[in-house]
Amino acid sequence: MSDARLTTQQLAELHLHLEGTIGRETALILSAQNGLPEPPPYEYSDLAGFLAVYGQVSRCMVTSQDFERVIFEHGEAMASQHITYAEISFNPSLHAADGWIDGVVRGRASVAREFGIEISWLVELVRGGAAADNERALDIALTTEGVVGVGLVGDESISAAPLAGLVERARAAGLGFMPHAGQVGGPEVVREAVEVLGATRVAHGVGAEHDTEVLRLLVDRGVCLCVCPSSNERIGLKPNFRKFADLGIPLVVNTDDPAMVPTTLQRELAVAETSHGLNRGALTAAAWRHRFGRHP
Ligand SMILES: [Zn+2]
Repeated sequence: MSDARLTTQQLAELHLHLEGTIGRETALILSAQNGLPEPPPYEYSDLAGFLAVYGQVSRCMVTSQDFERVIFEHGEAMASQHITYAEISFNPSLHAADGWIDGVVRGRASVAREFGIEISWLVELVRGGAAADNERALDIALTTEGVVGVGLVGDESISAAPLAGLVERARAAGLGFMPHAGQVGGPEVVREAVEVLGATRVAHGVGAEHDTEVLRLLVDRGVCLCVCPSSNERIGLKPNFRKFADLGIPLVVNTDDPAMVPTTLQRELAVAETSHGLNRGALTAAAWRHRFGRHP
């Protein structure tokens, strides 16, 4: 894509995973440094295949320096795309070593210092995850500098209702909540996220496409969907994003896992416009409007 296609206004991104920003070269370097098996190439064609790659690559980050490096490298990538604000999630259940969270804090500070880019964090809870792991994730969310929300990932066939108490504690502390729901799961998963967990911003949500009632629920509550066209396509999904937009549901486009898809936010904006008939200006404005962080 030529530079002429780049949107030069300042961009915000709201749905991507820190672990999904790890470049292949960096994954190889970190795995060697940490004495881990070489991670697989970023080759997959369905969600199960993706998750197998993702899990192994995620674990290449062990030390606080590893996290700092990955965050800094994504800072460089954001700077080249005019991204000045990003809400990036990470999954503590994938990171068992001590001290890594210090690298998250330092990495964020160095990206702000070096590139003038503000990163805010979402800390991920896991559907069906061990209670202790989800408690630990909430603790990290409540105590770590720069966290503005909690996320939710994991197998969508597992109800997230048991996590409602943790979500409520996060909300009471002023944090936002963006669950993954309706990526591969159906409309009932989206409905639960909104009605039971009170989500006003959902990662993907496209599983609601064919359910008139759940679409109406999204419209009535003004729920924003943070969608990821190329990420969907890599695992064989082709949602009709235009249908959601035409109903008045706010959409924000995102990369999800930019190194592994691979894609960039600039590319997603172009794909959204040219392949899905979405309005680029509406997409970029919605990203700013629906961010959890209030700075900048
Ligand atoms: Zn995601």
